[in-house]
Amino acid sequence: MAKNAHIIGAGVSGLSAAVRLANAGFQVHVHEATHQAGGRCRSYYDGATDLVIDNGNHLVLSGNSHVRAYARSIGSEAGLVGPESAQFSFVDIKSDKRWMLDLGNGRLPLWVFDKSRRVPDTGVGDYLALSPVIWAGTDALVGDTIKCEGTLYDRLVQPLLLAALNVDPPKGSAGLAGAIVKQTLLAGGQACRPLIAREGLSSVLIDPALKLLREKGARINFGHELRQVLMAGETISTLEFGDDAVTISPGDVIVLAVPPRAASSILLGLTTPVKFRAIVNAHFRYDPPANMPAMMGVIGGLVEWLFAFPQRLSVTISDADRLVNTPREELARAIWRDICKAAKLGNDVAEGPLPPWQIVRERRATFEATPEQNAMRPGTVTEWKNLFLAGDWTDTGLPATIEGSIRSGDRAADFALKMQ
Ligand SMILES: Cc1cc2nc3c(=O)[nH]c(=O)nc-3n(C[C@H](O)[C@H](O)[C@H](O)COP(=O)(O)OP(=O)(O)OC[C@H]3O[C@@H](n4cnc5c(N)ncnc54)[C@H](O)[C@@H]3O)c2cc1C
Repeated sequence: MAKNAHIIGAGVSGLSAAVRLANAGFQVHVHEATHQAGGRCRSYYDGATDLVIDNGNHLVLSGNSHVRAYARSIGSEAGLVGPESAQFSFVDIKSDKRWMLDLGNGRLPLWVFDKSRRVPDTGVGDYLALSPVIWAGTDALVGDTIKCEGTLYDRLVQPLLLAALNVDPPKGSAGLAGAIVKQTLLAGGQACRPLIAREGLSSVLIDPALKLLREKGARINFGHELRQVLMAGETISTLEFGDDAVTISPGDVIVLAVPPRAASSILLGLTTPVKFRAIVNAHFRYDPPANMPAMMGVIGGLVEWLFAFPQRLSVTISDADRLVNTPREELARAIWRDICKAAKLGNDVAEGPLPPWQIVRERRATFEATPEQNAMRPGTVTEWKNLFLAGDWTDTGLPATIEGSIRSGDRAADFALKMQ
């Protein structure tokens, strides 16, 4: 008889582990506390804009090998859409200066040596000065490792690291920043093509996984929150869900893929990151101008990244704790003004009635990517032989990203398979 794999949490880390274990012949049971899969990476119908929106604009890069392999394994890789070459449009809305960063399609970062492709007003030496971050230890701060000022910092390093770390870069972990720089700027354009789930996060990264799991006989249990576990020696013996309990048989495996606060309330004494940062996304129902790039870096305003979707302009603001209590209308207006400048919509549109809008504030979007919090990330293996941890907050070597999350789910499944 097939062994059971119990996956707790249906975010991308749990789903990637579930898919791997279902493919390996396990009878998979997914237990998700809410009534929707996807966790922090999901789509839903929004009444204010009358559109299906994502909880946050998620960008992945062509070098995110775990994301792409996962999407391939659930048959949805083609849903991650991006340009042929790693080109990023930027605008400084204070000066209205616009430029294109063109990393090309190669395996080496040769674009650095081409003035027309690199950030305007920067020289090769500026890029070489970033090299200490590549070798930085996990306890170092970005601000102690590289110079956090100047044109290259303002126009590229700050936006890149802010998006990746979700903290003010100088205070972020240089080790995690180095991992990002190695995966992106150093890996050449072939690793940096921006990919977006244009049809929505759920239809590309979540629903196809649920479909595949169901086809393989997996049971997906929504509204099934794990409350506690019982231990017997070196193993977990029972999963308690409140109204019911599941007995774990020898050979069964458990992947705990829940956020850190839930994990530490289930496994008392588990060390996890305890500080988090918010991300604000705002969505406006407005047809993007025809020539607008799918994605734009915005410098010099409140908005950091502007995305053009069919019928919708959306923005992302990272490290956004300062905005969680700002009145929604005030925030929407300030964001809309930035959008109008970046997308050249004109003053009349900026000051006219707001198009239908929605603001989504994810208060605990990611753990705080500082050396202190990074040191609190546990590994995959636990002191219980049949329980493995997954989630973007486990020790993936990356900040909280879909790539790290899927990597952690894959790793948990691989350890579970090794246990057999
Ligand atoms: C607004 C926003 C923007 C982002 N932008 C990007 C981006 O551009 N690029 C990128 O790579 N990453 C981005 N991220 C990060 C990315 O979304 C996360 O790293 C990833 O989704 C985390 O997945 P996870 O499976 O580790 O955790 P989660 O998605 O948190 O999944 C955990 C699941 O466990 C469930 N759960 C909790 N407790 C229990 C319990 N006791 N029993 C059962 N189930 C339980 C939860 O309901 C949830 O479904 C962004 C995140 C946010 C919030």
